[in-house]
Amino acid sequence: MKKVVVLGAGYAGLKTVVELQKQCRGEVEITLVDENSYHYEATDLHEVASGNLSASKITFPITDVLDPKMTTLLLDHVEKVNEAEKTVELAHHQPLKYDYCVFALGFVSETFGIKGAEENSLPMTSVKEAEAIHAHIIDRMKDYQQSQNPADLKIVICGAGFTGIELAGALADARPRFAKLAGVTPDKVTIDIIDASKRLLPMFNDDLAEYGVNLLKKLDINVITEALIQEIKPGTVLYKGANDEDGAPLHEIKGNTIIWTTGVSGSPVVAESGLQQRRGRVMDSGHLTAPQDDKLYMVGDVAAVMPPDGKRPYPTTAQIALSMANYVAKDIAARVKGTSRPGAYTYKSLGTVASVGNTRAFGEASGHSFKGYPASVLKKMIMNKSLMELGGFKELFAKGRFDLYH
Ligand code: NAD
Repeated sequence: MKKVVVLGAGYAGLKTVVELQKQCRGEVEITLVDENSYHYEATDLHEVASGNLSASKITFPITDVLDPKMTTLLLDHVEKVNEAEKTVELAHHQPLKYDYCVFALGFVSETFGIKGAEENSLPMTSVKEAEAIHAHIIDRMKDYQQSQNPADLKIVICGAGFTGIELAGALADARPRFAKLAGVTPDKVTIDIIDASKRLLPMFNDDLAEYGVNLLKKLDINVITEALIQEIKPGTVLYKGANDEDGAPLHEIKGNTIIWTTGVSGSPVVAESGLQQRRGRVMDSGHLTAPQDDKLYMVGDVAAVMPPDGKRPYPTTAQIALSMANYVAKDIAARVKGTSRPGAYTYKSLGTVASVGNTRAFGEASGHSFKGYPASVLKKMIMNKSLMELGGFKELFAKGRFDLYH
């Protein structure tokens, strides 16, 4: 029986397992390795960071979707993949031998080496980190009662990409709760979002991007663009403005909650494994396999797939991770059964929708633009679809987003 080892139970890894369980019954033995016993919806971390949803609402036990006759879950940390030996080295267990390995270890926060970013700001790449952000904000609001220090009421988000914008919207929804804890009116709790770019949200056309930025402004979020962050000191973000001369004094924004959302890179285990990569992503060479080893599949945030006419790889999203997983399961099934393999991997996005709080969103799907409340309903439908694809009706009914009104 062929041994398939899947690394990571995020969208890409778990979906690969779910599909292999359907397509290769009795033909493969699967070992799934993850540090956590739960799967989490990475696209919803901002809801936990803002306290609008509890962690239990965006997670479910991995074993809920495993077939124990086919799949074993191993809770461990992956150190590296040894392609030459066809083994996976783990922190606490013996190395795992594989016939096929699916590398789906997701993403980490990217600081680009900016001074003080790691020490003095809060990343949001896991459930624990999102919970830590929420706990931190709650503490600052309570501190304010004693300190009366306005910096305790200031939340600063570094990076206005997809993650930063969705987080800002969720925090705006939570603002009245935060204000109550601090004993102030909501307008006293400020949210700043800072970005180096002039034109935010490059994945959207001008009209939608402008709509998104205006939505933030209407929610009293201070959007600061053309601000290149240079350093984070405790309680202070230092940035260079677009027209500043080199060596000119840096601008400062004060705030006792500084959140880091300036981008992500693929898992550092990619580099540890000696794979050819850029920012933790391996360029696809056709079948989503690593260039040096066609038994090693790279899926989700550790894979870079070029659009036929594009200059940059497709952005990493849950949608592309699920699509890659479907492809990889099909390809492994064909190889195991000795039937003809699918052609090279291709991707067609079904659209992208960004939420700005619970009842506002914007984006495009099937060539149409959506804005405001209808877009927020569409966003929830998209999230429910991916939850259904991974966890079936059980998780959909338990964790689905059916709260269409606030
Ligand atoms: P991102 O790379 O999309 O955005 C980071 C932002 O930070 C950019 O706007 C960049 O200009 C800014 N930035 C970087 N360095 C800076 C600096 N020194 N000073 C000031 N600004 C700086 O990162 P993200 O928002 O974390 O998203 C990561 C990936 O995940 C993207 O591909 C995104 O599309 C995807 N994502 C998808 C969803 C979804 O589909 N629901 C949600 C969140 C993220």
